Amino acid sequence: MSQKPEDIFKNVISHSKEYGFIFQSSEIYDGLSAVYDYGQLGAELKKNIRDYWWKAMVQMHENIVGIDAAIFMHPTTWKASGHVDAFNDPLIDNKDSKKRYRADVLIEEHVAKLEDKINKEVEKAAKKFENFDAALFKSTNGRVKEYQEKIDAINARFKTALNENNLQEVKQIIVDLEIVCPISGSRNWTDVRQFNLMFSTSIGSVSDESNTIYLRPETAQGIFVNYLNVQKTGRMKLPFGIAQTGKAFRNEIVARQFIFRMREFEQMEMQFFVKPGTEMQWYEHWKQTRLKWHLSLNLGAQKYRFHDHLKLAHYANAACDIEFEFPFGFKELEGIHSRTDFDLKQHEQFSGKKLQYFDSELNQSYVPYVVETSVGLDRLFLAVLSSALKEEQLENDTRTVLQLPAAIAPYKAAIFPLIKKDGLPELAEKIMQNLKFDFNVAYDEKDTVGKRYRRQDAIGTPFCITVDHQSLEDQTVTIRYRDSMQQERMPIANLSVFLAENVGIKTLLQTL
Ligand code: ATP
Repeated sequence: MSQKPEDIFKNVISHSKEYGFIFQSSEIYDGLSAVYDYGQLGAELKKNIRDYWWKAMVQMHENIVGIDAAIFMHPTTWKASGHVDAFNDPLIDNKDSKKRYRADVLIEEHVAKLEDKINKEVEKAAKKFENFDAALFKSTNGRVKEYQEKIDAINARFKTALNENNLQEVKQIIVDLEIVCPISGSRNWTDVRQFNLMFSTSIGSVSDESNTIYLRPETAQGIFVNYLNVQKTGRMKLPFGIAQTGKAFRNEIVARQFIFRMREFEQMEMQFFVKPGTEMQWYEHWKQTRLKWHLSLNLGAQKYRFHDHLKLAHYANAACDIEFEFPFGFKELEGIHSRTDFDLKQHEQFSGKKLQYFDSELNQSYVPYVVETSVGLDRLFLAVLSSALKEEQLENDTRTVLQLPAAIAPYKAAIFPLIKKDGLPELAEKIMQNLKFDFNVAYDEKDTVGKRYRRQDAIGTPFCITVDHQSLEDQTVTIRYRDSMQQERMPIANLSVFLAENVGIKTLLQTL
């Protein structure tokens, strides 16, 4: 059944809550805006995604190691990194609705609408003509060319405004494009102002300014300040990477869209230290390697695209996003940035300590360049969940099925005794006890087997194992596949190997 994107998104949110994947934080107190808790199944799924990332990035690369730095860092870290002075979003308020927006997002959404128009023209023409050449059509069709010229003009103007930090011009673009507030429908905008996204708190008992510290807005700085510790103690040779996963905090102005944009979220980052001059080659390498990692989850190759940054951050000489087609359109999932030697040099300057690498081949020391890969775990979770959730029309029925990649599903298998007597629960229990050393498995004996299948389908369990009377006689069980709903009989003795081959993380790692 095909559903409208907004319905898919609503379903994802209600499904997450109904089955214990995601709850709103402090829900009994009416929740806290843009903060969420992961429930019993969400915590498993999130952990499995994180483990897959860690294994792919750290365990599979001999030259990448992982660390776990603290959330609190010396406040000078954030002066050096530029976050105190420049970690801002341009915000604008609508005077009628009193709603606040990110000015850049308003403009980007306007551009996305024009892009949609182009795509619709292309789709229409593709249906009409055989041997359709999309590139040729785009370069010759008058209407498409007109849209594209508009997009290019807006992007160029916006880029200049951002580079010159010209907030008046950013507002003027919004005015000229006649962008209206989606709530009030009016164009009654305030000026654009910069808003710092870092949360601050104080450390210790004395509350004076020198005790102000920040909740880290990115995990990357924990890696930079440990560069030398890791390089020396790990005897790392360039090129090498340091990875870490952990919480980051941003006081987002517009925190909507469920777990897409949160105020407390988790990042999975890797900083790859390279010889200066080789960074572009490594930037290309990591773009392709990370895309391949995403594709291995099998959510659909057409759902990914690269998007080059219009305005490079103060630290970057090249940057792009891997965008994913969420139910609300293509949005950033992961950032890949060539950060030059900016961070290490800044930390050298602010700390007075040398953060260099002795290159024995050249017999000289230098500050390495860095290529960063940075993905949001919560956004990945949303990408996986929104692509996996399906309403399927069966012959006489419908079913909700969560077609998660088996290796990251919360439960790998569920074990059912056909009925609650005749020794079947005991045998089912024994099978579960055996499998649980290696796999997270569920046990269910309530309701009909059909209903139990539906419950497991809805939470993405790839296999259901049913113990029946024949099992007592010949030590075989039926195993039912979530996606095809096919069943087959299998000796109990084969279950462990079968599951390892079908749900082990190795099934994903081998495709990389
Ligand atoms: P955006 O443009 O969407 O605000 P960003 O460019 O500021 O994101 P980065 O600083 O590059 O994001 O952070 C790297 C990754 O961290 C992003 O690709 C995203 O997956 C994740 N991320 C950033 N901010 C949030 C947030 N508020 N909630 C959830 N994930 C986030």
